[in-house]
Amino acid sequence: MDGCLFCKIAAGEIPSKKAYEDDLVYAFHDIHPLRPTHVLVIPKRHIASLAQVSAADEPVLGRLLAVAQKLAAENGSTDGFRCIVNTGRIGGQEVPHLHLHILGGPAPVGPMVEKI
Ligand code: 5GP
Ligand code: ZN
Repeated sequence: MDGCLFCKIAAGEIPSKKAYEDDLVYAFHDIHPLRPTHVLVIPKRHIASLAQVSAADEPVLGRLLAVAQKLAAENGSTDGFRCIVNTGRIGGQEVPHLHLHILGGPAPVGPMVEKI
């Protein structure tokens, strides 16, 4: 989608530190990491948020989760990790392109909800 930051990152028009890519998803390191492991996984095709998905999106939704384990382990979280999908205003979503946060590291991530 024109003007979408994460569409531009997925297309390589804006630089990012790539962690993984396949036919459906692109993964890259968060620019402001909140934990030692902080990777974002996004659909290559623009989907605004989890509030906008339909049954046709099930393959890409599955892929977002399916790559999380591999990306967590490869990026320093071999003993567990947390996935978060902030959604819409109430969910505190800042970038309006669906993204899965993978958070982890050697120490526990912390409370389940801390972002206000
Ligand atoms: P949200 O609050 O929407 O769930 O998370 C958006 C995330 O995108 C934030 O953690 C923020 O640091 C990250 N982010 C925003 N802009 C950029 C960018 O240009 N590059 C990268 N790598 N991450 C970004
Ligand atoms: Zn987009």
